[in-house]
Amino acid sequence: MMSNVWFTLSRLFAILHVVHYVTCTPESDSEETYNKYYNYAGLTRRLWSFVEKYPHICSLESVGKSAEGRELWVMRVTAHSERNEPGKPRFRYVGNMHGDEAVSRQVLVYLTEYLLTRYGTDPRVTELVNSTDIYIMPSMNPDGFEKATEGDCTGSSAARQNAKHVDLNRGFPDQFDQLPRVLEGDAPEVTAVMSWILHKKFVLSGNLHGGSVVASYPFDDSSSHIASGVYSHSPDDALFRYLAQTYAENHPIMKEGRPRCPYDPDEGFKDGITNGAAWYDVPGGMQDFSYLQGNCFEVTFELSCCKYPFASELHTEWKNNREALLTYMEKVHMGVNGYVMTSAGIGLPGANISVAGNNHNITTWIFGDYFRLLLPGTYNITASSSGYLPKTVNNVTVTEDKATLLNFILNTSSEKMQMPGFLASPVPSTAFTPTVRIFDNQGASTPEPLVHPQDIRHHSYLDMELFLQQINTVHSSITHLYSIGQSAQGRELYVMEISTNAGIDQPGKPEIVFVGNLHGSDAVGKEMLLILVEYLCSNYGSEALVTRLVNSTRVHILPSMNPDGYEMVFEGKINSGGVRYSSNQNTDLSKNFPDQSYGEDFVQPEKAAVMSWIKTHSFVLSASVLGGMIGVKYPNSVDSLDEDVFKLIAEACFVVSVKLVLLMSFQSIRPSSALVLGFGSRNTHFYSSGIDMQTWAYRNTGTLGFTIGLSCDLYPQAKDLLTYWKRYHVVLLQFIQQVHFSVRGRVTDVQSGQGIVNSTIVVEGSRHHVHTSKSGQYWRPLAPGAYKIQAFAPGAVVVPVRVLETQVEQVDIGLSPEPLAHSEGQLEGEEFQKLLEDLSSTSGLEQLVQSLLPGGMLHYRTYRERSDFLQELTLTFPQITRLYSLGHSWEFRTIWALEITGNLESPQPTEPKMRYVAGVHGNAAVGPELLLEFAFVLCINYGGNPTITKLVDRSRIVIVPCVNPDGRELAQEGKCFSTAGLTNAHGVDLDTDFLSGSLSVQPETRAMMDLIREGGFSLSVNLEGGSLLVTYPYDRTTQPAHNEETLKYLAVVYAGNHLGMHFGYPGCHIGPGRNENIQFPGGILRGAEFSNHSGSMKDYSMDVSLCPEITVYTGCCLYPPAEQLLSLWVEHRTSLFAMLLEVNKGLSGVVRDKEGQPVSDAVVRVNGSVLVHSDTQGYFHTLLPPGTHQLEIHAQGFQQQLWKVDQVVLAAASKRTRVKCYEHQLDK
Ligand SMILES: [Zn+2]
Repeated sequence: MMSNVWFTLSRLFAILHVVHYVTCTPESDSEETYNKYYNYAGLTRRLWSFVEKYPHICSLESVGKSAEGRELWVMRVTAHSERNEPGKPRFRYVGNMHGDEAVSRQVLVYLTEYLLTRYGTDPRVTELVNSTDIYIMPSMNPDGFEKATEGDCTGSSAARQNAKHVDLNRGFPDQFDQLPRVLEGDAPEVTAVMSWILHKKFVLSGNLHGGSVVASYPFDDSSSHIASGVYSHSPDDALFRYLAQTYAENHPIMKEGRPRCPYDPDEGFKDGITNGAAWYDVPGGMQDFSYLQGNCFEVTFELSCCKYPFASELHTEWKNNREALLTYMEKVHMGVNGYVMTSAGIGLPGANISVAGNNHNITTWIFGDYFRLLLPGTYNITASSSGYLPKTVNNVTVTEDKATLLNFILNTSSEKMQMPGFLASPVPSTAFTPTVRIFDNQGASTPEPLVHPQDIRHHSYLDMELFLQQINTVHSSITHLYSIGQSAQGRELYVMEISTNAGIDQPGKPEIVFVGNLHGSDAVGKEMLLILVEYLCSNYGSEALVTRLVNSTRVHILPSMNPDGYEMVFEGKINSGGVRYSSNQNTDLSKNFPDQSYGEDFVQPEKAAVMSWIKTHSFVLSASVLGGMIGVKYPNSVDSLDEDVFKLIAEACFVVSVKLVLLMSFQSIRPSSALVLGFGSRNTHFYSSGIDMQTWAYRNTGTLGFTIGLSCDLYPQAKDLLTYWKRYHVVLLQFIQQVHFSVRGRVTDVQSGQGIVNSTIVVEGSRHHVHTSKSGQYWRPLAPGAYKIQAFAPGAVVVPVRVLETQVEQVDIGLSPEPLAHSEGQLEGEEFQKLLEDLSSTSGLEQLVQSLLPGGMLHYRTYRERSDFLQELTLTFPQITRLYSLGHSWEFRTIWALEITGNLESPQPTEPKMRYVAGVHGNAAVGPELLLEFAFVLCINYGGNPTITKLVDRSRIVIVPCVNPDGRELAQEGKCFSTAGLTNAHGVDLDTDFLSGSLSVQPETRAMMDLIREGGFSLSVNLEGGSLLVTYPYDRTTQPAHNEETLKYLAVVYAGNHLGMHFGYPGCHIGPGRNENIQFPGGILRGAEFSNHSGSMKDYSMDVSLCPEITVYTGCCLYPPAEQLLSLWVEHRTSLFAMLLEVNKGLSGVVRDKEGQPVSDAVVRVNGSVLVHSDTQGYFHTLLPPGTHQLEIHAQGFQQQLWKVDQVVLAAASKRTRVKCYEHQLDK
């Protein structure tokens, strides 16, 4: 009755509003009219129109399909919406989960438009979109909405559920309920959103509903499931109340706490909020799942009494909710955030963050970044990760506004033996705890890694091909699909490589291989490996162990070695004798591998392909995965030394399988005696004739081969596959980890530091030899003990011998080669061009930076420590470094310059020279440390990383870490704004002292002036502090520099490669011309506009040597706490490398006269301005932005002064220039 009255009333109001809007607002596709609902087709169009118009800040994706096949659209709104950025919290809104609750569906479209249209003009929106990864799902139940009726306030149209009659907000796993709540397949919307939640690890979210006006927070139900009135506390109850209230108090009706909805006009909510269970018990709701399983704080908002009001209400609803929606989103930035890292600076995904007194933990995301929302107060916070020592920071202060930055660096007890980002020995048992879904409210639950049930079945060859291609498409960033050849009947032998930067030889990453389906009838191995492919891919980034394995290992999976044989057999033929060995040619591919004595004439194509594949890779471990047995086996007749290794690895995997699988029935059997029973033993029983793949591999290649049996059946029913997977998949994961417990290292040429490919590593006592990879790396699995290791390489004259005493150790071996004549050909130059192009492409540089061995040397150094560090560096890397003094300070400290180049002794005329300077102001303490880290990273990657090697070989890098060492000694850690140490010991601000012609400059200034005047530099970067931007010349008030376009471009390159600088909001509180709200578009400014002064170093560099110099302000705080150095390094390192790349671009050439003699001191004018003079070799180099430029050469002493006018087109590879070499024939 009541609802009918309401229905009529709202219709009346609706008509009035419609009239109003039709007259005022013309209908337009591109502008929101707030007066109509979008059905599925309309919504889809509308969302795509956003993407077309605002591609730089939004992207549209579907996280799955509804029961009737509609896409579950998600708008992602953020700067750089095409990538995941470390340290950016993820927020989501989900609307229209109930099909008949329609207001949120529209309001979320309006919110999207609001964010997109105001970005760049409205500072609040700009800040939010820059700093937050926002996901908006306007409709989680598109099928239900299509059935709902406009004007139906009470949901009488029965469109609440999805098309399979499931209430989606009852369909999530519940903490008090062990059974699945919905039948598999009945709620694909829930499955899709669950997977999305688990993968994205959102920090904060809002679930929007209708039918009342209130904010309802967890928990949504209690163990008693009493219908109403039971307050169900979560560990974060106070925080949830605060979050709920944030929304309520910004909503004009909600804040009253009296919605006066017709169905219960007297209903009241104090402050407009309620505990979910206290209002009414909702088992299986999304918000509890988000909180308990999804790392995410979620509150449910009821937006309006009427569930589906007439469209005329929409504008009012938008106005009512707008401020609340925005303010709530901003709360994603409260609390504490930061990174959990190894001491080498590698982020640890899946690490736990716990707050003392609160038993709800959250975990880090794929970059090791975390966000722990907390109310203002003081907390003791602990970070922990399996394999590392936990670390606690006490008395962390959280304030009302911005999140407190708190980074954790976790150490292992055996730090040196550890792979970057990988577990140290021994393997912690926690990594192998069976992952059972835990629905308690302890909060420390681990979601079961995902495998989509529909993909577990038998795959025909074509199914498998499609499956692999799909995986390769969806997970392109971590997969590489290739074929190693064809079967006898022409089917491809597909291999899926899974690893970050798959397909590329990467220093420090061992390779491992799995082969399945050697017998056509053996379907178990094939299907287990296909599941493994999907398991590794779909859990990457959300599951800590998988993420680490994929980050640190190259896993090659060949699911079917015998696709012909497989096609011949049928499902369900279990263990039938003849079928077992069937293959295309009735030969057993697992046996009869040719021994050295055989010759390889009659080898089947499958075998030949596998053999050549294993021979040409440096696989450390390999395993054939099969059915017909359970356990791990290894070859016969191996050396006693290797027997220990095989046994160790087999047992490591076997013990896991025993623990997890054999359970009660074998409890009394110790692993060692079980080994005798044949569960994990040598290959003595099954393959007594010929040699099998493992034995062949052992004798002929570097790999250690195993057989892993995962089922007694060969070809089980499809429904049993999942059971086998669940039981035994840990064996496969354990096997992958074994590769990391090898002795490993690099074999290098002691002269050049370059890795030596294919040198042989010999362990005394074994005839099994491994070889180094392209980058000179090797891995040799060994059992604990003492060994003698030698390395041999063709032409090497020195062969050191090392004795090892531990299991996992890094052993690098340097070899002196016989000298070879080295000529640098044209080809190499072209290769270098290609390299520059690749690095300049989107993310090329980022990938380089990610692939580098980390320095991890960051801390603040005194003058003494800095000097020691520089000296040690040059002693360690004498072939590429040189340390010299530029002069002395007033207090007689040395002003060091460190030179890094591959051509130390023989400078090449064509190598560009660049300068990195810091510490002109002693109180800006970050710059010197960043430069020392930069120098160290360059050195340790030289030789191992081919890109760094080439860049160092082709450039001359001069680093002056501290111009003002006296001032630097006076500065104090933690003082963000102190001027102590700004000047030199005579009170002079050195950056005002670079006055050309002045005779009485400071000694520090004189030292730098001499270096600058020496000339030859093409680019200089000076690191300062106190803000976050880059300034370009000039610092004094004058006309813009004649090459301002170039200078600006260089600044843009630096700012653009910095994680946050290019947003242009330094957000610094104190300092000259700096207030919190000041904005520098693009993060760059001409020096004079930022801090106008004369006598600056960069103006001097421009005036005297025509060398462009930019000044980088590294951050607001001049001398931040040491813990922040690592994140500052992470923010700046790509930019520092980008500048090294830039100096290798631009325009260069040699000016020669007609006889081919170089013309020195020729004037090179570009676009009418003098940019550079040719040197004594006639060589010139100048930086230019991409585009078409006018080039003129002038030279004295020739009849004509103007020699050449030319159009130079500098290609823009992704907006960057390529070097274009110009040789000028000059007429005399
Ligand atoms: Zn609802």
